[in-house]
Amino acid sequence: VPDRTEKVYLGLGANAGDPVEQLRKAVAELRARRIILEPIALSSLYRTPPWGGIGDQPWFVNAALSGATALSPQELLAALKQIEGDLGRKPAPRRWGPRPIDLDILLFGQRIVRTPNLTIPHPHITERAFALLPLVEIEPLLADPATGRRYADCLAALGDEIARIEKMKDEL
Ligand code: AMP
Repeated sequence: VPDRTEKVYLGLGANAGDPVEQLRKAVAELRARRIILEPIALSSLYRTPPWGGIGDQPWFVNAALSGATALSPQELLAALKQIEGDLGRKPAPRRWGPRPIDLDILLFGQRIVRTPNLTIPHPHITERAFALLPLVEIEPLLADPATGRRYADCLAALGDEIARIEKMKDEL
C-alpha cells in the first residue's frame, strides 16, 4: 500500500443492460486497476426509481463503496470515466437518462473540491436517497465535510423517498 492514500466513497448506478452485472464489473475493474485499494467496504444493492423527473426508463440499481486511493481527485475522476467508457457508457447520455454505468465520487477524505468538472462532496448527495442510503449503510455516522451535517440526518429529512427504494437480495 502506498504511504499516501485517502479514504474515498464512490456511488455506483446502472439502469441499462444487466445493471447488477455492470456494477459487479465496475467493482472488479476498480480492484484490478488498483484505483481503490483493499480493504473495500461494499454496500447492499438497492433498486431505486429513476430520478430527475424522467420516469420513462427502467429503475436503477445503486450501491456505494469505500476504500483507499493513492490517486488525486482528478486522477480518480479520469479513472472512473475510463471504466465507464470501457463498460459501454457513451460520452453524452441524456441527462438523467438510461445508462449502463455511472460512477460518482461522493467523498474524497475530508476534501472540498470545487472545479468546473469536479465537485466534492458530490453536488447532489444530500438530496438523493439513492446515494445516501447505501452510503449511510457502510458508514452510519458519516457527516458532510463542508456542513458537518450527518448524512443519516439528511436521509431522514427526505421522508417518503426512502420508502420507494428496495434493498435487493443480490450482493456485489
Ligand atoms: P453524470 O452524467 O451525472 O454522471 O455527470 C458526469 C460529469 O459530472 C462528469 O463528467 C464530471 O466532470 C462531473 N462531476 C462533477 N463532480 C463529480 C463527482 N463528484 N463525481 C463524478 N463526476 C463529477
